Amino acid sequence: MENIIYAIITFIYGIFIGSFLNVCIYRIPKKESVVVVRSHCMNCGKNIKWYDLVPIFSFLILGGKCRYCKTKLSAQYPLIEFLNGIGYAIIILIRGFNLVSILYCLCFSSLLALSVIDFRTFEIPFAFNVFIGILGIIRLLTDLKHWYVYIIGFVVVSGFLYLIFIITKGRGIGGGDVKLMAAAGLLLGWKGIVLSLGLGCILGSIIHIILMKVQKKDRVLAMGPYLSLGIFITMLWGDKIINWYLNSYIR
Ligand SMILES: [Zn+2]
Repeated sequence: MENIIYAIITFIYGIFIGSFLNVCIYRIPKKESVVVVRSHCMNCGKNIKWYDLVPIFSFLILGGKCRYCKTKLSAQYPLIEFLNGIGYAIIILIRGFNLVSILYCLCFSSLLALSVIDFRTFEIPFAFNVFIGILGIIRLLTDLKHWYVYIIGFVVVSGFLYLIFIITKGRGIGGGDVKLMAAAGLLLGWKGIVLSLGLGCILGSIIHIILMKVQKKDRVLAMGPYLSLGIFITMLWGDKIINWYLNSYIR
């Protein structure tokens, strides 16, 4: 019961942070500041009033249109807000309300934003990896007894991917993916990041094949979204999956 209340509260925080993510998703690839310039309509340039910036609800009340020029607004705004809120709520419901869950929620926001950006531009902005790395350092500092778990996590997958990066001269994997797995490895520890890579590759291959069949064209594979999905699943059920695997196969 308590968890449900925490989940509702974090959902509300989540949709507001989701609205900031929308700003990041549009401005970071264009190298614009995410804090200085006020939110404005992309079409008529009018500043958006605070009461029209309430996540999800403003979009619904305005019927998805700008209040002034009536241009249709992208459904991506409320969608990102909702996904960020629901992501937070799921993390709290499954893992309980504690410091690690809060770190995972913030990591989830970064994954969501960097996935959308990577999907569009094939680039993961460095700032997101730095942010996840900082979350990882906080995790390490609050679990100093197991410091080596996170240090190994930092290098084990990223080192392997970096080798592929060098051998394929950057065609096999992007530099942003390597840094993402280093940062997330610091947060999840070495077992968690190995699992994330495995899940990301499996899900990536399946979804990519389906996408190519549906869209009937070759599409360059952006790994970021799939690695992010692997990291998200690991944050939710990593411990359970790893224990199940160890008990089933290693005796
Ligand atoms: Zn407008």
